[in-house]
Amino acid sequence: MPDSPTAETESAFVCDSGEEMRSACVGEPFYKEHEGKRYCVLHFPSQEKSADFQKAVQRKLDNKDFNFQGVWFSDELSFFRFDFTGIANFNSATFNAEVDFSSAVLRAGANFSSTLFNVEPDFTGTTFGAETPFSFAIFNAGANFIQAAFTSKADFTSATFSGDAYFSQAKFGGAAKFSFATFSGGAHFNANFSAEADFDQAVFSGEANFGDAVFESNATFMWAKIGAEACFSGAVFSAWAGFGDAIFGAEVDFSNASFVGNADFFNGTFKEDADFRRASFKAKANFARATFSGYLKFAGEKEEPLFGDKSSLDLDSARIEKPEHVSFHTVTMHPHWFVNVDAREFDFSNVHWKNDGKAKPEIELLKEDDMASPHRLLAIACRKLAANSEENDRYREASHFRRMAMDAERLETWRGFGFLRLSWWYWLASGYGERPFQAFLVLIGLLLISAVLYTQVGFVRWEPKLASESDVVIAKRDDVGAPLKFNRALTYSVGVMTLQKPEPRPATTVAQTVVLFETILGPVQAALLALAIRRKFMR
Ligand SMILES: [Zn+2]
Repeated sequence: MPDSPTAETESAFVCDSGEEMRSACVGEPFYKEHEGKRYCVLHFPSQEKSADFQKAVQRKLDNKDFNFQGVWFSDELSFFRFDFTGIANFNSATFNAEVDFSSAVLRAGANFSSTLFNVEPDFTGTTFGAETPFSFAIFNAGANFIQAAFTSKADFTSATFSGDAYFSQAKFGGAAKFSFATFSGGAHFNANFSAEADFDQAVFSGEANFGDAVFESNATFMWAKIGAEACFSGAVFSAWAGFGDAIFGAEVDFSNASFVGNADFFNGTFKEDADFRRASFKAKANFARATFSGYLKFAGEKEEPLFGDKSSLDLDSARIEKPEHVSFHTVTMHPHWFVNVDAREFDFSNVHWKNDGKAKPEIELLKEDDMASPHRLLAIACRKLAANSEENDRYREASHFRRMAMDAERLETWRGFGFLRLSWWYWLASGYGERPFQAFLVLIGLLLISAVLYTQVGFVRWEPKLASESDVVIAKRDDVGAPLKFNRALTYSVGVMTLQKPEPRPATTVAQTVVLFETILGPVQAALLALAIRRKFMR
């Protein structure tokens, strides 16, 4: 009923709700004035309308007219199990009272973009049959989408959730777009995302709960800000998990999460603890340039390895405030994963290192990543890992890392053969003093080669007998000599090596040279052997 009499005819009335909104109130008569503007009953922006409004809404529903663009809902409304056969358009509508869409079927899709919900709407078990934009929607008192099913794209771009947002057990059949959305309360997304899930630049001021969420396609949280606890425990990322540049203001729980595609935390900020225990990385785990202020925990289990065969960890240039709070338990890793990060104080326990002591395959892997000067970087990383091992009394492991470091440097020049370099000889003789068995073999080799040579060169057959002074003048030394038999040569070689100056003396210059070399090299090699054995057990 018109409030005040008017001269206008009904058809001449033009609602002041705005050009776009008017499509929803064609044929509606003038109802009331508000702040100088004239409205129909549907668009009249005030609580003071009841029976007239209810009638107008019911009339539209009876006509299967679901165009409620800009409508101002003052009273409770129930669409419980309602079947919307056409597109439900609530664009820019205002809900100032409870609205119940639970178990409703919006089979042709709906439009809730820029819709204002001043009271928590109930979308429990609602089916969205087609694309449903909620972009720029404002939920001022929470949002309930528990068990909602979006069969097509769900677009919540730039939506504002002032209360708690519940999307638990929701099913997103199409892309789920939450980029630039803001969540002031808790955000609960223990949901299933069949297509792309986009939370880029979303802001979570409360708890972000994605526990046990299933992301079947790419899940991105690039530049997202999570101010309170973030829970991704048990979440499954079947494709790319993009958390690049994300900021985690409080604890982050990725325990038991599974990353099938690349897990990208590049340049991310972890202001408190980050828990990756019992997680599983099947591809790259990229933490390059990330910042860690609290604990960072990686732990696997014997049956469930943290890092799969084809996975890798990248901590390149990560900023770690408390390195002693970074821990790796029961994991298999490559030493080159610790390039460009200071691993000296990391807590390694029950860590199995791949390519134990072999630098070459590690360098190849670094080259695959287009790393500049891989040899030097690997050498530095290995020395730091060696320091860590020594500090924690794992001497055998320390020895492997030291050898690897020197190997990496050796491989940089002449494809590993730098005859003129002392380090090359050191590597050959004892594996840089880290391989006792190699040192032992070289020692035996020296002994055998010398023995073989003694069977080829001349030794004094007789010593002149000096009876008187005159005999010295005429006495003839044996300067041609005769070679030794192999058995004799062998014991002779042992004698020389142990500095016993055995008989007979070498007769020729060549023989003297061989004896001289063995006299010098033998004890040096024996010392290298002793050193290598010692380094297996202590510094
Ligand atoms: Zn109107």
